[in-house]
Amino acid sequence: MRVSKKAQFIMDELEILFPDADCELNFTNTWELLVAVMLSAQTTDKHVNSVTKHLFKKYPDAESYLLVPLDELENDLRSIGLYRNKSANLQKTAKIIVEQYHNVVPSDHKALVALPGVGQKTANVVQSVGFGIPAFAVDTHVHRVSKRLGLVKETADVKETEAALCKKFPRDSWIRLHHQFIFFGRYLCKAQRPNCAVCPFQNICTYYKKK
Ligand code: SF4
Repeated sequence: MRVSKKAQFIMDELEILFPDADCELNFTNTWELLVAVMLSAQTTDKHVNSVTKHLFKKYPDAESYLLVPLDELENDLRSIGLYRNKSANLQKTAKIIVEQYHNVVPSDHKALVALPGVGQKTANVVQSVGFGIPAFAVDTHVHRVSKRLGLVKETADVKETEAALCKKFPRDSWIRLHHQFIFFGRYLCKAQRPNCAVCPFQNICTYYKKK
């Protein structure tokens, strides 16, 4: 594909800024990754890691989530936002993984989004991080940064942002860029106080120009 000068500039600068960007959730297999990503909605990765540190010991596989009553799982997750919904979805998803997939998390996108509590973003993260299948997961950081860098319109929804990013950047860069966009949004182009003074994107940033 032909990469625009702007897209190439963004890729080059992010590579300089965050050469080691990677998934910050802790996991040792695709089931744990799926659980961690499901828990991460509206919660920081750091907090998810502090919870899964104990959770993964008590619940070593999908089957173990089915051996406890729902209120016990809720109690184990109560420090996490939306823990009631997340607990219920985890048990339903665990049941499907055990009964339909013989304890193996599927890599297929359709199969992933059919799991309770698994949306487009979660499925993309599991595909890309867990299976190395190119996908551009759009979380709150990726969405915000894409708008500020003028890669999508201000009014774009998450679906439009994902489509635009996949169109503008080469397929083999999606996994890496997804992490670099998140690091950029998390540590430099923050929602409330972006550190514009040290940002290489001032010239192309719609937010900076408005300021
Ligand atoms: S100039 Fe500021 S708002 Fe724009 S991309 Fe850089 S850090 Fe973000």
